[in-house]
Amino acid sequence: MSEERSLNFLEEIIEDDIRNGKNGGRVLTRFPPEPNGYLHIGHAKSICLNFGIAAKYNGKTNLRFDDTNPTTEDVEYVDSIKKDIQWLGFKWDKELYSSDYFDKLYDFALELIKQGLAYVEDGSAEEIASAKGTPTEPGKPTPSRSRSIEENLQLFREMKEGKYPDGAMVLRAKIDLASPNMHLRDPLMYRIKHAHHHRTGDQWCIYPMYDFAHGQSDSLEEITHSICTLEFVPHRPLYEWFIQKLNNFPSKQYEFARLNMNYTVMSKRKLLQLVNENHVSGWDDPRMPTISGLRRRGYTPLSIRNFSERIGVARRENLIDLSLLEFCIREDLNKSAWRRMAVLEPLKLVISNYPEGQTEVMEGENNPEMEGGDGLRHIPFSSELWIERDDFMEEPSKKYFRLGPGLMVRLKHAYIVRCDSFVKDESGNVSEVHCTYIPESRSGTDTSGIHVKGTIHWVCAKSAQTAEIRLYDRLFRVEDPSNEDGDFKDYINPDSLTVISNAFVEPDLMNAEAGRGYQFIRKGYFSLDSDSRPGKPVFNRTVTLKDTWAKESQKS
Ligand code: ATP
Ligand code: MG
Repeated sequence: MSEERSLNFLEEIIEDDIRNGKNGGRVLTRFPPEPNGYLHIGHAKSICLNFGIAAKYNGKTNLRFDDTNPTTEDVEYVDSIKKDIQWLGFKWDKELYSSDYFDKLYDFALELIKQGLAYVEDGSAEEIASAKGTPTEPGKPTPSRSRSIEENLQLFREMKEGKYPDGAMVLRAKIDLASPNMHLRDPLMYRIKHAHHHRTGDQWCIYPMYDFAHGQSDSLEEITHSICTLEFVPHRPLYEWFIQKLNNFPSKQYEFARLNMNYTVMSKRKLLQLVNENHVSGWDDPRMPTISGLRRRGYTPLSIRNFSERIGVARRENLIDLSLLEFCIREDLNKSAWRRMAVLEPLKLVISNYPEGQTEVMEGENNPEMEGGDGLRHIPFSSELWIERDDFMEEPSKKYFRLGPGLMVRLKHAYIVRCDSFVKDESGNVSEVHCTYIPESRSGTDTSGIHVKGTIHWVCAKSAQTAEIRLYDRLFRVEDPSNEDGDFKDYINPDSLTVISNAFVEPDLMNAEAGRGYQFIRKGYFSLDSDSRPGKPVFNRTVTLKDTWAKESQKS
């Protein structure tokens, strides 16, 4: 994190509060996911913000599952959310559930009824909606609004006891039907839902609404700064109304712009559709913007934290370019990934003056960006190699510095070779390239005095191992699929996944470790996929390299 950057608006607010001795200088934030899906990169921003800001001011962060909607929630999601937060590198203070407050929330509701500030509504959803008016027209009271306190208490208790079917009644706050803020026109506090809850089981058949439950949960935990996204700005007066009327701890709500990113979708509802309709292989499909997808793709926690820091905290919505996220992972992997060689589209190269049957062992640093190279690995070399098909051209153009008749290149970590001839198969495709090598040109002890412009990667044919390689492209072919005509799924990129089932990799990659980044020289950054089986590795391309070809060719 850059120490020099100026404070963001939330940090300014917090520093002000600390200076003024508010809450005794205490900072307590919370991250409140609803366990109805896996976390995505937008949540990562909220996590980095909530945990980051608390840590900066010696505060703490609670993890609170906002589990007030029994029909969409599941323990699978709870577990994945915890795993993702920990993986990102954060530690919550308390693990809490809104459902743990159901008793207290119910008592708060009774209290509001007793104050004449809440009533049981038995009109239909349509009746409620039509009596609510429009932003330019005040609402009208429904007959339920004038119910007596006693009757409200009785009906609400009966709602809780399960006397009424779903949708028969709701509890509403009695605020102001003429308010220009529609959220204050007697908003719903409770609804009836005879549904099994993943924690409370069948104990409840009434469930509190977000606006009521969220703020009072904040209050009960004495959250000092309740940070949420901009769509909650119009809810803030309601947030404050409940707290004030109940005389609860004065948590304060602050809003920032949610993260939107191009070429993807970011709502759990839409991500769930992609999973359920098999457009992707699961929540952790490497093309998904979920944290689990990014992890499987090879993203590191540091790259995501850096991304979140870089996009900053704004109070205006914008669309962040996917390439910024890619920049952040490249930046990290360039420093941490181990270099390896893999040939994705193989073409045979035969060295005619290299003794057949002889094998030599070349050495390559695991990571030249690290002091000491982070160790060496051994790379077998012999007279037959695999090279990349597009590293050979039958009729090379002037600026082509790789192989073609008469041209010389360096084989990375090995020798300089000159192309003498090539062979074609019956269909006219080049099937073999024949070269001679310069014995004095071995990397590290090169006395040949020959300077070549190009360096290419290779894999020794005798010891090459087969691997499956999965290349990814954007999941959508338009920048903002949610804002196009028709269904967002119509804009899925049909070429977002390319599978190469028979790539050749250097033998050391049979020991590849999950969670480690590998740079396949000239091909990008890769990581081992969980579909790998013993002897059958599968690699995901995390991200392509920047155009490092010019730089790479200077080195040997
Ligand atoms: P979605 O709309 O994707 O389903 P949500 O807001 O319903 O997300 P929650 O589980 O309620 O998901 O979100 C938990 C927290 O993460 C909330 O505080 C929410 O504001 C924040 N959050 C969700 N999406 C984003 C985003 N795109 N950018 C920043 N914060 C987000
Ligand atoms: Mg939500």
